[in-house]
Amino acid sequence: RKIPKTKGNHLKNLLDFTLKELKEQLSPPFRAKQIFEWIYKKNATGFDEMLNLPKDLRTNLAQEFYLDPLKCVKFEQSADGSIKYLFELKDGLRIESVLLPMKEEQTNEQGKISRHARYTVCVSSQVGCKMGCAFCLTAKGGLVRNLTAGEIVGQILWIKRENKIPYERRINVVYMGMGEPLDNLASVSKAVKILTENDGLAISPRRQTVSTSGLGSQIKKLGKMDLGVLLAISLHAVTDELRSRLMPINKAYNIEAVMDAVRGFPIDMRKRVMFEYLVIRGLNDSLADAKKLMRLLHGIRAKVNLIYFNPHEGSEFGRPEPSNMVQFQDYLCAHGITCTIRQSKGLDISAACGQLKQRNEKNKISAQNGIDADKISSAKARERAGTNEPTIKISGRKDQVLLTNPSRKTGPKSAPATQNLTNAEKK
Ligand code: SAH
Ligand code: SF4
Repeated sequence: RKIPKTKGNHLKNLLDFTLKELKEQLSPPFRAKQIFEWIYKKNATGFDEMLNLPKDLRTNLAQEFYLDPLKCVKFEQSADGSIKYLFELKDGLRIESVLLPMKEEQTNEQGKISRHARYTVCVSSQVGCKMGCAFCLTAKGGLVRNLTAGEIVGQILWIKRENKIPYERRINVVYMGMGEPLDNLASVSKAVKILTENDGLAISPRRQTVSTSGLGSQIKKLGKMDLGVLLAISLHAVTDELRSRLMPINKAYNIEAVMDAVRGFPIDMRKRVMFEYLVIRGLNDSLADAKKLMRLLHGIRAKVNLIYFNPHEGSEFGRPEPSNMVQFQDYLCAHGITCTIRQSKGLDISAACGQLKQRNEKNKISAQNGIDADKISSAKARERAGTNEPTIKISGRKDQVLLTNPSRKTGPKSAPATQNLTNAEKK
């Protein structure tokens, strides 16, 4: 793959290389392993720090490679701890990533609960996206370019390093940021492999979830690669009529074609395919929709993640009523389908993809006019949130209500008290 270079910059992104590729570039090849360890295990940000490498090698490396594909230009922390980052790439384009910390509860044989800090990093795979989904802000500008594998890896590396997340701490990766991962399969599959390297971050593919809007033939291709990654399908509608309206890709691969591709996808027997279902007020939030969804999933090892539509400026859709979300979830759970409601990670940071980027760009413009776009849009978001205020309050914050509800079964057997915040897998 061609690695984008800035004008006059001949350097290559070292994060674009698998261990094998780097070995091929270096002599003796064992230097590659040392370099990988410096970057991914010891958080080196420059070749100078790689003290067990000969000085001339360090000098040569610095003349050929760089290690910092991203510069953080802005970040926002939500009250619940998630942090959204806006990164600038070498060519000045911008992408978003999110760090989602969460507490995972585990009960041992004596019934004692222990809590572990868990992290999920949500990464972008493209600058923009060409899929044109009607509800998505990233869709607005179309596709600008694919990210390279190193630019994807760089998001996780940067976030892990800057947040001082210990090397041994397991993290999950979800390809659910900006862009359609299966429209950039070459970089995404390579990123999966680089992240998996034992001498690198050693993130098992079973902790990596690729989310797609449903590119049937690409799902099959990904399946054939047999990387061991988990699959998430953004379904969002149960009829082809509505799905085609929301997601133009449905005209090329309709619901049946997507289900067909999912049926052929290799998954670990202990795992399930995640179906993401964006719930939009009055469009796809009825009990009839839940019933139809259940029928569609018949025979598939599936779990469902319901997502509140997150309104953004100019969007024609509305956030659903919490009572409809609960009704939808209860129906699926009662019929044996594991169903979680994604905790809306902070309307205060405009959670859905593309929104920080858009606000930041708007900021640049309105700052010239003396207006603070940040304040305006977060006030608007709060105003909107207020109109959809849930009626039950459990965890204290409006958008966290459905997080803990011990009385609700979330699956046929298990009923974890804490529901998944994202599509991250629990192991
Ligand atoms: N292109 C891939 C992955 C990135 S989109 C895909 O579509 O699956 C990441 C997720 O954000 C998708 O599930 C998408 O449905 C969701 N999303 C997009 N716009 C949203 C919004 N306004 N509110 C809530 N979720 C949104
Ligand atoms: Fe692209 Fe996913 Fe947004 Fe659709 S939802 S436009 S596929 S990023």
